[in-house]
Amino acid sequence: MTQVRFSADRVRSVAVLGAGTMGHGIAHVAAVAGCAAALYDVDPAAAARAVDKVRANLDKGVELGKVDAATRDAAVARLRPAKDLADACGGADCVIEAVPERLELKIALFGDVDRLAPAHALIATNTSSLPVAAIAAALADPSRMVGMHFFNPVHVMKLCEVVRHDRADASAVAAAVALAERWGKTPITVQDSPGFASSRLGLVLGLEAIRMVEQGVASAADIDTAMKLGYGHPMGPLELTDLVGLDVRLGIAEYLAGAIGPGFTPPALLRTLVAEGKLGKKSGEGFYRWVDGKKQ
Ligand code: NAD
Repeated sequence: MTQVRFSADRVRSVAVLGAGTMGHGIAHVAAVAGCAAALYDVDPAAAARAVDKVRANLDKGVELGKVDAATRDAAVARLRPAKDLADACGGADCVIEAVPERLELKIALFGDVDRLAPAHALIATNTSSLPVAAIAAALADPSRMVGMHFFNPVHVMKLCEVVRHDRADASAVAAAVALAERWGKTPITVQDSPGFASSRLGLVLGLEAIRMVEQGVASAADIDTAMKLGYGHPMGPLELTDLVGLDVRLGIAEYLAGAIGPGFTPPALLRTLVAEGKLGKKSGEGFYRWVDGKKQ
């Protein structure tokens, strides 16, 4: 009988690389589901902050009666900031990368991960749009990499887009699907193509909404209300752009404009706001003003 190379059941210990918006959320869901999670970040303070952030989110869950105190305590006990990349990856059964959306950065990081992670480890990237095959090429064995695209905030959003590239081992894809389920997510499987399913479609709406603000068709708030009340979206495309980060959306639009076509060309208003440092919720202003994390 041939041995299945990768299995979600064998994942006990996870390394999360990049401890920002997505990294801390991925560590959160892994730890709640019973995995030990080591967080590595080039900025050691970010890894420590990420652990505090998960604890604060779980505290909020306990306050709201959604999480019991024992689950919170056990999850927090499974988290740790890693000293360095070797410390994070050394004992990992699964490595998930969530560093900024730059292909060369991810390729350089995975060159090191390849040496440091055990051969049995499933390797995943949380890229929102970059070609997974190009990132996987940094590994001696690209077949063990898949895309696991989580959504922000990870502990709340149910979707995980599992991205299958041409050289991926079928058991790596199946393991990623099962792991996402084990972590409380609903996985979908998508072929490796620019923007996958979610970013490609989501961006069409987001960019068109920005063009409509630019052309004075309606205010940001009214456009968002149109999609909420007219189409049943839980949040409008401009508020969502503020949550994701205008810089993040600009990066994806630039990439998709080259990879798919000019329909994704970033509107001038998006470029202007990013150049002015108006990046959305994280900077306090985007299409809305944000104070203490709340839309004004
Ligand atoms: P972020 O800027 O919040 O966090 C990235 C972290 O990576 C930072 O703490 C940074 O210090 C760290 N970092 C930078 N270089 C590093 C390196 N070489 N090694 C280790 N850490 C390093 O970014 P984010 O929003 O969490 O995005 C991370 C990835 O997730 C991107 O690929 C992004 O496209 C994707 N993503 C983002 C969202 C979102 O809504 N923000 C949603 C889905 C996917």
